[in-house]
Amino acid sequence: MMNKRELELYIHIPFCARKCAYCDFLSFAVLEHTYRDYMDKLIEEIYGQSLFFQDRSVTSIFVGGGTPSILPPELVEELFAVLHGCFTVAGDAEITIEANPGTLTMEKLEVYRESGINRLSLGLQSADDQELKILGRIHTFDDFLKSYQRARQAGFNNISIDLMSALPGQDMHSWKNTLRKVTMLKPEHISAYSLIIEEGTPFYERYGKTGEAIETDRVSGTNDGFPVKSVLPGNSWDSRMELPSLPDEDTDREIYHMTKNFLAAQGYERYEISNYARPGCECRHNIGYWTGVDYLGLGLGASSYIGGCRFRNETDLRRYLSLDLRQAGIAARDIQELTLEEKMEEFMFLGLRMMRGVSGNEFLGRFGRNMWKLYDTAFQKLQEQGLIEVDKPWVRLTSRGIDVSNRVLSEFLLD
Ligand code: SF4
Repeated sequence: MMNKRELELYIHIPFCARKCAYCDFLSFAVLEHTYRDYMDKLIEEIYGQSLFFQDRSVTSIFVGGGTPSILPPELVEELFAVLHGCFTVAGDAEITIEANPGTLTMEKLEVYRESGINRLSLGLQSADDQELKILGRIHTFDDFLKSYQRARQAGFNNISIDLMSALPGQDMHSWKNTLRKVTMLKPEHISAYSLIIEEGTPFYERYGKTGEAIETDRVSGTNDGFPVKSVLPGNSWDSRMELPSLPDEDTDREIYHMTKNFLAAQGYERYEISNYARPGCECRHNIGYWTGVDYLGLGLGASSYIGGCRFRNETDLRRYLSLDLRQAGIAARDIQELTLEEKMEEFMFLGLRMMRGVSGNEFLGRFGRNMWKLYDTAFQKLQEQGLIEVDKPWVRLTSRGIDVSNRVLSEFLLD
């Protein structure tokens, strides 16, 4: 029998209990009745789109958001029944759901397991309750501990924890404390990103682009005008809270290096700029994304990359819900076919984020071009500056290269 081509699925659930103060993801605190309407539309989209992918084997499914764990468990159960009915899901597929402490019950966890979900991605961000409050998270560290223990009891043996550094007022001591508390729990995977101040968020109003606190009374980022209601009334982020300054760039860098060393000592290998795992527990879904595996995004605003074409679904919730997806099955717009140059650039940008780097052999097999000749000038320059190391057939960023990765990666733009 012919091997089916690989496909990854991303399912977007754009609902949260309320917006965190730094978040610019496509998510809303909306009325609960919208969950049912949204799921109906998503299911229509899955039926429609799956017809085009009957020759594919789904090797990973990632349900992200938003806060997918805010959905009632029966909706998640229904979602997975439809996914398994419509697609050929490989027996060893990695199936992840993102969950927020404060929204996870034992009942939900049991339904996840019965639905075939085998990986849980828990958004903690910090083990310090004051930092969590500043971020506008809905949970405390203790809530997280309870969720984590429940997940282990429910049988999850592959748990990832999301952390965030460079938080307002954070210093090495508090960050190390977060790492210490989290590694004591021995999760299989840790993602550690630096806070980025995104435009349009309450944090942007406070810190602007400079990172300095600025005065404002405005509270923003709760919705986009669609009917909304926080499901946790009275538990909203306090826009008048005194916010400490952000750590400076040097502290941010120090935190980054300390994280790598601390986690390495605890048995976590950094396999991508911001991701760490116990051996064999790397996130297959993300590796697929960084290595150019086709992925299909389903749901509001979800992005896809199929056969060299990139497209993104409708981002307006009201419009998405009014689409008729039974016939065409496609909620996509902005379809963009990448040129060969763009595909090669992207392969370098994404591949070099991984510690193993990019292989010249794979480049040749994929594009029929010699990577060493094509990027000869960039490789020479970056090698002289100590920013990349060549270990043929591999090329990868050095530790110094990672510190200035944006600058290094820009060298791989083709004219
Ligand atoms: S939980 Fe917070 S950070 Fe995550 S998507 Fe919702 S609002 Fe954004």
